Amino acid sequence: MPLIGAIADDFTGATDLATMLVSRGFRTAVVIGAAEPDEPLGELDAVVVALKSRTAPVEEAVRESVAALRGLRKAGCERIYVKYCSTFDSTPTGNIGPVVDAVLDQLGAERAVVVPAFPATGRTVHRGHLFVGDQPLAESPMRDHPLTPMRDSNLLRLLTPQTRRPVRLIGHDVVRAGAEAVRAELAETESALVVVDAATDADLVTIAEATAQDPVLTGGAGLALGLTGPHPDSARADSAGSGPAVVLAGSASAATRSQVAHAKSVLPSRKLDIAALRADFDGAVAELVEFARAQWAVDPDLPPLIYAVDEGDELEPSQSATPAGELLERALARCAGELVVLGARRLLVAGGETSGAVVLALGATALHVGAQIAPGVPWCRTDSYVDGEVRAVDVALKSGNFGGVDIFTTAWDVLS
Ligand code: ADP
Repeated sequence: MPLIGAIADDFTGATDLATMLVSRGFRTAVVIGAAEPDEPLGELDAVVVALKSRTAPVEEAVRESVAALRGLRKAGCERIYVKYCSTFDSTPTGNIGPVVDAVLDQLGAERAVVVPAFPATGRTVHRGHLFVGDQPLAESPMRDHPLTPMRDSNLLRLLTPQTRRPVRLIGHDVVRAGAEAVRAELAETESALVVVDAATDADLVTIAEATAQDPVLTGGAGLALGLTGPHPDSARADSAGSGPAVVLAGSASAATRSQVAHAKSVLPSRKLDIAALRADFDGAVAELVEFARAQWAVDPDLPPLIYAVDEGDELEPSQSATPAGELLERALARCAGELVVLGARRLLVAGGETSGAVVLALGATALHVGAQIAPGVPWCRTDSYVDGEVRAVDVALKSGNFGGVDIFTTAWDVLS
């Protein structure tokens, strides 16, 4: 019976958390969406439900999260982990606060910690202010994210309008005093969402220890660093086997832009053309699919790169009738499905929303965590169900800002 059930608000976040849980000794699978999974969960120690709810309307995000919660409880999960982005990606009204409120209400619980910190990827929290590397969140490239621009770095200010509960802070002074001190401070706050400072892995371990009896944890994947599962040697899934590869990059994040710039000097590449997609969506997608197919014929070892944004590109505002972001996601999702039918067996996808669109287009129902490429980015084996046929494929879902500059060219090396 799984010990931990997690609800992740995007697909890269789900695989990010799942790879952390595997490394902490939990046999873990990612299931897609809140529907009853096809696979038996009894053999697992942790189940992560991947939703595409980060930017959904609040009621929809809450409804899907509650449905996921019910499924996890039915599967026997004892503790619930609400997973959001380590850069706290959300809008002024949600969806982090409303989802956490709903999960607490469903479980009859009143309090949860809020711990987005993930020091291994540069995200730390100081006096409630979230940093991305050396920059406060609101001065980092997240300031200009196309879907969730983050214009404040103060987690208490960000969260207060999103929740019915009071928002409190437990600062470093208490965290550094140890788990007992954090537990004592938490015990004094009956009903609250409690932002907890964390700057190091040791801080995360302290917080996890202090909350070991809490029914609900909330945070980025970093918090799972402090959890210990029953199977320290749990194996990672084998790859699906070799086959043509492709990189699909829909993210406009700073790290992905540099990764695209780097890869373009090595890989054959094609940029998504928003005007062409608006004018003739099917024709523009067919042209991209043909580009990838032709590249495989020339050199099957060189993955073609299809991408959205170059360094320095301005983004189109999302107010237009057909927002560019949605169009690009749909285009990459369609490419993914058609390329799998044409033989693609390894797909590296950049962007959380983009990954959601791609995995849904493949009809996958579960992801099994395989080899790790970079912190928070594993390969996952899955079955695709495009055109009614089952095909085993490997997918790597990379959060926009994760991974080194050469990830699009080196990720394949760890896929044995
Ligand atoms: P990340 O993980 O970096 O946040 P996502 O895929 O979650 O990446 O989000 C990036 C969003 O930006 C997607 O919806 C994508 O389609 C959109 N996008 C990409 N390029 C552009 C562009 N040129 N103009 C507007 N939106 C864009």
